[in-house]
Amino acid sequence: MPIFEYLCKDCGQAFEKIVPRYDSSADCIHCNSENVEKQLSVFAIAASSKDSAADAGCSRCGAPEPGMCGMMD
Ligand SMILES: [Zn+2]
Repeated sequence: MPIFEYLCKDCGQAFEKIVPRYDSSADCIHCNSENVEKQLSVFAIAASSKDSAADAGCSRCGAPEPGMCGMMD
């Protein structure tokens, strides 16, 4: 089961919770509020940083640095 990080809008506490589904709701473990906001998962952050690295480096192979490109002429 995936684990997600939430931020409670009522008490301001962040917490992690294992939920059965990606879109499952979660209650704050501190105050039991349902007014929580799911934070970006570690996987999503890693995926987005990989995209920006591809922008800065080789656009063809995704290497972080142009010199690392294995597809250069
Ligand atoms: Zn709370």
